[in-house]
Amino acid sequence: MIKTEYYKDLTKMNTFGMKVKARCFMEYDSVADLVDIEFEELARPVLHIGGGSNLLFTDDFKGTVLHSKINFIEILDDSPCHSEERVSCHCEERSDVAIYVSVGAGVVFDDFCAWAAKEGLWGVENLSYIPGEVGASAVQNIGAYGVEVKDVIHKVYCYDTVEEEFVNFSVEECEYGYRDSIFKDPEIKGRYIVTHVVFALSREPRPRLEYGHLKEAVTSPENGDASIERYLTPEMIRRVIIKIRKEKLPEPSVMGSAGSFFKNPVITMEHYQRIEAAAKAEHGPDYKVPHYIIPSDTPTVVPSDTSYCHFERPEGVEKSPMVKVPAAWMIEQCGWKGRRSGGAAVYDKQPLVIVNYTGEAYPEEIIGLERRIIASVKAKFGVDLHPEVEHI
Ligand SMILES: Cc1cc2nc3c(=O)[nH]c(=O)nc-3n(C[C@H](O)[C@H](O)[C@H](O)COP(=O)(O)OP(=O)(O)OC[C@H]3O[C@@H](n4cnc5c(N)ncnc54)[C@H](O)[C@@H]3O)c2cc1C
Repeated sequence: MIKTEYYKDLTKMNTFGMKVKARCFMEYDSVADLVDIEFEELARPVLHIGGGSNLLFTDDFKGTVLHSKINFIEILDDSPCHSEERVSCHCEERSDVAIYVSVGAGVVFDDFCAWAAKEGLWGVENLSYIPGEVGASAVQNIGAYGVEVKDVIHKVYCYDTVEEEFVNFSVEECEYGYRDSIFKDPEIKGRYIVTHVVFALSREPRPRLEYGHLKEAVTSPENGDASIERYLTPEMIRRVIIKIRKEKLPEPSVMGSAGSFFKNPVITMEHYQRIEAAAKAEHGPDYKVPHYIIPSDTPTVVPSDTSYCHFERPEGVEKSPMVKVPAAWMIEQCGWKGRRSGGAAVYDKQPLVIVNYTGEAYPEEIIGLERRIIASVKAKFGVDLHPEVEHI
């Protein structure tokens, strides 16, 4: 079934809670419905949304907003992968225990994580409680606590709105990078609608605890003897991650946001050293600037468990290491942490997050705050911040 509504209120369909309308909104339940949509005839532009948790609507949307309600989770085959599949999913490392699970694009990603944990399937527990839906997870290459969704994606199934046919992409063909994929390439953005994703999960314990303080949190005495690593279950890790995330990040139902608003910038070593010298002069010689050195042989499209983004090496420093400096640190150093500007504010527990503080913020207030943050980081550090959040 396709449900069509005109001048649809999108307030509850974007986690920032922007009070905007879509001229036309269409929600479909199945791939058969998707085929029935006459794409040529839709009011333009066309935007496919998931949970609206990485979007900032800057105004009413003049075209058509599409949303998938394709909701299923299905174990395809729990037998060992056969050799042809091994090649395309890199699962030599995943050994012979890959369990293929097909999940509809409209499934809330965290519902899938909860389901997998209950089934005792490993792979997505570290991605628990990330807002949004399964279709967008494969577009965004969501990541948290040392895991990116590309690590467990086997294939992404799509509808090609240009050729009007179904296609699928192997994980290599998706060209995943930090919160990036081929689906975000401006040349083809919007052409492919994700209908479902096949994940390769595992029954064999595969805890990933090396990131942040996950290991200490999981193995803390309050989790009892069961926390000893060999007794860990995906449910235990999921529980701990949800607890940590709730302490750090605003709950979208309570305070609107789109998570991390800015990307972490990557700068030259020389630039970093200037920033470090200024910080030591300001805070004392023992002051440590948080940073991560990206070795000189690292390709510019890099894996991202430490959340560095695509970056360019300026001419003349092709052979030098680069340095990622957390945007949150820079924003805090500029005095923005917890500051309000009209209905918008910088979240007091995590300055990388801009929030709809009053619940009534206008898009202009969010954008105004964004611009002022960008300007002050540029003035203090000479660094250009770029938004992670997609402005619509
Ligand atoms: C509080 C909070 C915490 C967050 N924490 C994290 C985190 O830890 N890690 C992380 O990676 N992200 C995080 N995010 C960002 C966000 O959750 C992810 O980017 C998520 O994948 C967005 O999913 P969505 O369904 O809401 O997509 P939307 O925001 O609706 O859309 C995102 C993009 O995907 C496209 N899209 C959506 N569905 C489809 C489809 N079926 N086919 C083709 N294209 C589609 C849209 O056009 C858009 O370009 C956080 C956000 C919030 C609000």
